[in-house]
Amino acid sequence: MTVLTSYDAIAKCNKCGFCHVACPIFRATGHESGVARGRLAMLRGIIEKRVEWDEELEDPLFTCLGCGACTTNCFGKVPTADLVLNARAEYLDKVGKKPAHRLLFEHLLPYPKRLHVAARAVALGKNSGASKVANALGLLRIFGRDLPKAEGIVDKLPMSSFRGTIKPGVYPGQGDKLKIGYFVGCGIDVIQIQAGKATFEALKKKGKSVTVIDNCCCGLPPYTYGDMDNTKMLARKNLDAFEKLDVDVIVTDCSSCASFLKKYPKIFKDDGRDYERANKELPMIKDVVEFLYADDQGQRSGDETVSSYHDAHAAAPKGGEKKGAGAAAVIVTYHDPCHAVRGQNIKNEPREVLKKIPGVTFREMAEADWCCGGAGSYALTHYDLSQKVLDRKMNNLKKTEADILVTSCPACMIQLAYGIKRHGLKTKVFHISEMLAYKDTLH
Ligand code: SF4
Ligand code: SF4
Repeated sequence: MTVLTSYDAIAKCNKCGFCHVACPIFRATGHESGVARGRLAMLRGIIEKRVEWDEELEDPLFTCLGCGACTTNCFGKVPTADLVLNARAEYLDKVGKKPAHRLLFEHLLPYPKRLHVAARAVALGKNSGASKVANALGLLRIFGRDLPKAEGIVDKLPMSSFRGTIKPGVYPGQGDKLKIGYFVGCGIDVIQIQAGKATFEALKKKGKSVTVIDNCCCGLPPYTYGDMDNTKMLARKNLDAFEKLDVDVIVTDCSSCASFLKKYPKIFKDDGRDYERANKELPMIKDVVEFLYADDQGQRSGDETVSSYHDAHAAAPKGGEKKGAGAAAVIVTYHDPCHAVRGQNIKNEPREVLKKIPGVTFREMAEADWCCGGAGSYALTHYDLSQKVLDRKMNNLKKTEADILVTSCPACMIQLAYGIKRHGLKTKVFHISEMLAYKDTLH
């Protein structure tokens, strides 16, 4: 779909301005060009030949978080995030694709082993303080001009990947019959490996077997840059991998991956055979939050112990210490990843799961469903703007006085942990799988 063929959708905007209150970028900048109404006016200007395709469009097109909050507040349900993403694809065709992105999308993301090697090189450079080494490899330049400011977002990187430790293959579980496929997103694989281990152990408790899938990147990163060729290439590789599996369900613990895997039929809507393949796999795809919630509804086993988890979280607040006569429970709050709450309509499920954990006091955070500003690599490409959005989230978090902030997207986890460090808070950030493991320390 081009900007021209999106005219009807763009023209649905009646300029009412109801989107302003919901847009994190508008609330951070106050600029009309940063809100849905302004972005749509710009797209309309392109169609009506009042605006040229040139580099001036880069900021209005690429500062959108793609969070979808504007659509939720829009009576006409104008899908601004999708329209902006489509326009990015056209921008890259007409104005030019950045070569550094090609390196990432074409030569690293399709090949998990290469990604592991690259991540290890970055980790070596970063953890030894020699980030120039990684820069020299061209691995970090991908993120552009804001990288020097953004380098502190990830303090240390693990030296091994999740699938370097737990290789793709079939593992026996303790459940009766369910055969589970575990889709390992890039963020879990190379950064949040403790969350991956917690999910893996939780899935083994539920399934007769757990297959760690030899998948590649889901395709969301090139999609957000408007690179449809590489998006489809990655999606096809994953569909090939899914077709070889003998599983009943495919679970992922990255809400961004889950949301995007569910989008494959839409990606392939004009590609007959791939469209059919994507539709066939669609009912199998589950966000781990949905999966855990459904399981929780079906059977309250209450003993998802994750032994390997405890070492990694020795510094976490000790709920058990707070319990006992008159002692307070651990205060837990939740951040909704955009790709869960708007991408998959997952809202109550994580809250229900968390509220049932003995020893937990769940405290709702204001604007919990607002984007944290992480938005994939947004924090690396638009550091200052991303931090303004994050500051709002941190101010809301402070008011909860939460010991633990739970979420289900590795990019959000990184961003939130950085905000907590920058604001000098004590709150710990857990993936929901980790929280379920951690609950055993609360007894
Ligand atoms: S709320 Fe919808 S219709 Fe109103 S200005 Fe925003 S995008 Fe346009
Ligand atoms: S998708 Fe999010 S950042 Fe983009 S215009 Fe809509 S509310 Fe603003």
